[in-house]
Amino acid sequence: MQQLDALAREAVALAQGGTPLSAAEAEVARQLQVCNACRYCEGFCAVFPAMTRRLEFGKADVHYLANLCHNCGACLHACQYAPPHEFAVNVPQAMAVVRVQTYSELAWPPALGALYRRNGATLAIATGLGLALFLVLARVLKGSLFHAPLAGNFYAVFPHNLLVGMFGVVFGFAVLALAMGARGFWRRESPGPASGAAVGEAVTDALRLKYLDGGHGQGCNDADDRFTLWRRRWHHFTFYGFLLCFAATGVATLYHYVLHLHAPYPLASLPVLLGTLGGVGLMIGPVGLLWLNLRRHPLHGDGAQRPMDRGFIALLLANSVTGLALLAWRDGGAMALLLALHLGFVMALFLTLPYGKFAHAVYRVAALLKYAIERRQPNRLQLGSD
Ligand code: SF4
Ligand code: SF4
Repeated sequence: MQQLDALAREAVALAQGGTPLSAAEAEVARQLQVCNACRYCEGFCAVFPAMTRRLEFGKADVHYLANLCHNCGACLHACQYAPPHEFAVNVPQAMAVVRVQTYSELAWPPALGALYRRNGATLAIATGLGLALFLVLARVLKGSLFHAPLAGNFYAVFPHNLLVGMFGVVFGFAVLALAMGARGFWRRESPGPASGAAVGEAVTDALRLKYLDGGHGQGCNDADDRFTLWRRRWHHFTFYGFLLCFAATGVATLYHYVLHLHAPYPLASLPVLLGTLGGVGLMIGPVGLLWLNLRRHPLHGDGAQRPMDRGFIALLLANSVTGLALLAWRDGGAMALLLALHLGFVMALFLTLPYGKFAHAVYRVAALLKYAIERRQPNRLQLGSD
C-alpha cells in the first residue's frame, strides 16, 4: 500500500513536472490544501500568508513553509479539523517532520545528513569524544588534573595556540557546513534579490522571535489551550546568552591580538562580564526550555526528534554550567579539571552545530528572509482581493 502511495505521488509529481514528494512532504502538502480552503489561521504567523500565495505545494514550497513554521502550536489548538477529526490536520507536527528532512537532505557533506536520524547518539558520542580529548590532553600536558593554584591562567594547562588551532578548525568547518546547507535551501526556490528593507525585516523578526507571540501577542500554546509567552522568553535567554558568549570570545580575541592583553582577565573586564552574562542567560534559557519541553502537549512537534531537542538543550546547559564553574573556581587547584570539562562540552557543541538542533536557527532565518522578499512582490495568483 505504501509503495502504491509512493508510486502515485511520483506519477503526480512527474505529470506536474516537479520532484516526487516523500510521505512527510506529501502530508504537509495535503494539510496545506485543507488550510488553503479554510484560512482560519491567516493571522497567526507568516506561514499562512505565504501559503495563500500558492495553489500547489511542491517540494521547495513544503520545505520553505516548514522552516517558516516556529512550531508555536496556535494553529493546532485553533483547528476544527485537528485529530480526532478525519482530516487529521496537525500543521505543527507535519512541519516538524519535514524540517528534519530539510536538515538531513541539505547537510554538507551529504553523507553526514544521516547524523540527524540518530541525533541522540550523535550528541552522546560527540560529547564523549570532546570530554575524553581534553581530559586526556590535560593529563598528558599537566601530569594531573589537580595542581597548585595557577591564578586562573588557562594557558598554563593548554597552550593558547593549541586551543586556537583546534577550535578554529572545528568552528570554521561548522560555519562552512551550515553555509552550504543555507545555500542549498536558498537555491531550491530563490525568491530573487533581497532589498535592504526585506533584510531588515527578516533580521528584526528573527531577533524578536516575532512568530513565537502566536500572532496575537499572547504567546504560544504549549501544554494546553492556554497561551504563554514563556517559550519566547526562554528562547530569548538562550539566543542572547549564546550571542553574548560569542561576543566575549570575540572581544577576548581582540584583546589578545590587537591590544596584546593576555588572559586571565579580571572579573570586571569586558570579556569576563560578557561571558558571565552570556553564561547566565545560557543557563536560565535552556532550563526553561527543558521544563516546557517535558510538559509539551503530545500532539505538538515530532516525538521522534525529542532526543535531538533535549540533547541540544542539555549540551547548552552543560556548556554554561561548566563555564560559570570554571570562572568561580579558576584560582583553585582543580582548574585543569574544570577547564577540560568545559572545553570538552564546547568542542561537542561545535562538532554538532551543523548536525543537530542548531540548524533550525539557520534555516528559519533563511525562510524569514525568503518570506520578507516574497511578500514585497506582487501575488502571482491575482485572485480577487489578492
Ligand atoms: S490549521 Fe485548521 S483551522 Fe487553521 S487554517 Fe488549517 S484547517 Fe483551518
Ligand atoms: S504552529 Fe504556529 S508558527 Fe507553525 S504554522 Fe501553526 S501558527 Fe504558524
